[in-house]
Amino acid sequence: MCFAQGSIPAGYKDDRTEHMKPGMSEFYAPQPSKVSPGCQKCGGAPSDAIVLFDGKNLDKWCSSRTGEAAGWTVNGDGTMTVNKKAGDIRTKETFGDFQLHIEWCVPEDIQGENQARGNSGVFLQGKYEVQVLDNYENQTYVDGMAGSIYKQSTPLVNPCRKPGEWNVYDIIYTAPTFKKDGTYRTHPYVTVIFNGVLVQNHTMILGTTEYIGFPTCAPHGDGPIELQSHGDPSKPISYRNIWIRNL
Ligand code: MG
Repeated sequence: MCFAQGSIPAGYKDDRTEHMKPGMSEFYAPQPSKVSPGCQKCGGAPSDAIVLFDGKNLDKWCSSRTGEAAGWTVNGDGTMTVNKKAGDIRTKETFGDFQLHIEWCVPEDIQGENQARGNSGVFLQGKYEVQVLDNYENQTYVDGMAGSIYKQSTPLVNPCRKPGEWNVYDIIYTAPTFKKDGTYRTHPYVTVIFNGVLVQNHTMILGTTEYIGFPTCAPHGDGPIELQSHGDPSKPISYRNIWIRNL
């Protein structure tokens, strides 16, 4: 007898089990692809990742506004810094389901408070923001903290490092599917690990992450990774070691 996954009744025992040997429920093909993991200490990319920023240039990125060259500052030490005048930047390539690694650092001498203190963001498929903010000793609305799905889902805990230290996001994202009427057939889902700590556990994204108002839904296909140039007056933050794996 076969049951759909998850539907085996409590206490059920398949009569055939007593005639089985261990090898009858083991299989050897296809083998998972071999991947060399990246350098553990430096957050390096595994061998099957697309490196989006390795510290050398912004060739994989463009201005969200104009589609022309991304105007952020490459510092020559493996990092880049937001240029608030240049606006948001996005990857030229688009993605569906993915695993994204990205590191960010708030300046040691950051000033400001609430949302005006190191605000940036990582937009998944250009639409759904995982908030970036200095929340080391800075309170704000909890659904707008670092590691939140902006104005939708509070992070489970606050593992933010202090200004001047590097924070790490590892983000696993499942793209939505849509019905003919333009509503979600399946919502986007996201898991966020923040400095090695789980802050979003397979969270259902309700829709776009709006500053004012409620989430909206409009059909879309693959989309870019977009980084936010926030208009607050605090010093701009920096990014490094950005890579992505298509899933
Ligand atoms: Mg933001």
